[in-house]
Amino acid sequence: MTPPAIVILGTGALETATRIQARYPGAQVHGLRGRVDADLAYSELGAHLCDLYARGTPIVALCAAGIVIRCIAPLLSNKGIEPPVLAVAEDGSAVVPLLGGLAGVNIMARDIAATLDVAPAITTSGELRFGTCVLNPPDGYALASLAQGKRFVSDLLAGESTRIEGDAPWLDGTDVPRTPASRLAIRVTPNVWNGDTNELVIYPRSVVVALHAGSNDEATIEARILAALNEHNLAREALAALVIASNVERIDEYVQAASALGVPLRLTDTHAPTSSDALLMHAMRVPCEFVHRTHDLTLAVTRGPVDPTAIGRARGRLTVLGLGPGRADLMAPAARNALDEATDILGYDTYVRMAGPFRADQRVHGTDNREEMQRARHAFELACEGRSVAMVSSGDPGVFAMAAAVLEALDTSADPRWSSVDLVIVPGVSAALATAAQAGAPLGHDFCMLSLSDNLKPWDVIEDRLRHAAQADLVMAFYNPISRARPWQLDKALDIVRERRLPETVVVLGRDIGRPGATLTTTTLGALRSTDVDMRTMVIIGSSLTRRFGHEASREWVYTPRWYR
Ligand code: SAH
Repeated sequence: MTPPAIVILGTGALETATRIQARYPGAQVHGLRGRVDADLAYSELGAHLCDLYARGTPIVALCAAGIVIRCIAPLLSNKGIEPPVLAVAEDGSAVVPLLGGLAGVNIMARDIAATLDVAPAITTSGELRFGTCVLNPPDGYALASLAQGKRFVSDLLAGESTRIEGDAPWLDGTDVPRTPASRLAIRVTPNVWNGDTNELVIYPRSVVVALHAGSNDEATIEARILAALNEHNLAREALAALVIASNVERIDEYVQAASALGVPLRLTDTHAPTSSDALLMHAMRVPCEFVHRTHDLTLAVTRGPVDPTAIGRARGRLTVLGLGPGRADLMAPAARNALDEATDILGYDTYVRMAGPFRADQRVHGTDNREEMQRARHAFELACEGRSVAMVSSGDPGVFAMAAAVLEALDTSADPRWSSVDLVIVPGVSAALATAAQAGAPLGHDFCMLSLSDNLKPWDVIEDRLRHAAQADLVMAFYNPISRARPWQLDKALDIVRERRLPETVVVLGRDIGRPGATLTTTTLGALRSTDVDMRTMVIIGSSLTRRFGHEASREWVYTPRWYR
């Protein structure tokens, strides 16, 4: 279940909110900006509740039920996802489930009420009478038809009783009236409901399908799975997982099929899977009955719902992300999400520290090790265990950073499992862009980015590029301008540029931009000394048109006009 958003309006609700938060790991308290400090700040209650509701996030609002109702009323005519919505009295004295009966709102109401030691205000008749919401079976089960379910429950409310066929352990100990010979039946089965209105059919997610590559079948994977289910009269809602070998080719097709079928994709690491049967046997740790076996597709049914996380392993993920220059608000939300979701974080110690703090359950593999290829391989190895890995770079990961090393590792790898990793590269604000924005717009026209480091390329190449870039009147952004191990290179580079650019050429130096103690200096090519620069500096050399303006009264701006004469 998605953890609920606990929404409060003021400090008076903070204590109750914290007690509720302790009941739901991962839940955050959302507080009205300027009124109360919480995990997250929002500025307008109505808009915020609507946004949460539309995204399907369970809502626990610590305010009057009427306020909550009015806020989300505009969204209610839209029959879409309906997450649980509860109003809780600020002082914790009342818990009122409002919406989301089929999403478990009454269960939440009971849990929260128990936490606060009060009685929940349950108003659902079925729930009151039977002590459970018959239409809301637990995780691992799905209702065949909601419309039929409603009819069935109203028959029960009208005084009928029911038989139970199959295993429905969650109904034990409830007040659902049972009689073995009754007309009505609750049937727990993976077989498709035949439309009999005397039955409430609940599908356990107990069917697992394994696919072995190599089929010449023209049909899509999804269509083949549906056909196999159909042949055995199994409901698609009963499908629990799709299993493939981790070294399968064209994994995207399986990813797409699993997502279309709404089931998790699970991978097994057999070295030489001979058939879909062998694959499935390798992946499953629970006994099952094979109902359909061909060389490349096997369907198996277990007794009761199966936990997909117990089958094989998850598809690993590797996200290579850029933190931006340093300031948290200059990091892309996609990068933040990847960090939050990661099980493992890799990178230089400095960057890993910048990306933190991390939760106790996240493994941090910080290192001073400069061997980037080794780090890239380590990331793939972790992802191949099914872990979710975040590899951090400063700025943008594709600009003189880890993304290219990761792709080179993949390109030259002989391990077929690596290509099954879900590899994503999330961009970031590169140092040149962050420095340029501080100074104004020195990159407002054609420019190039050059690394002055000759660690990975011959110095000749650098000189040649500098000559051409200077000749072409490009604005130049120098990364890695100088270091203790490379003391003379910057002076040499500046000499080359000076041969083709005037001493008045505008130069911007950004040091530690976006970090504590940042400095920004504007100077000229004539006045620039290599001692003004260190390895934490970005050097931007202007073109013949780059200008600076401003005087004592206002700050100075640097820009390169968009036009050329
Ligand atoms: N991937 C990074 C660049 C890594 S190369 C990016 O896109 O920004 C490292 C060089 O980037 C440093 O030597 C320095 O020249 C520059 N740099 C990185 N962060 C910086 C910052 N916050 N301020 C100024 N320059 C920075």
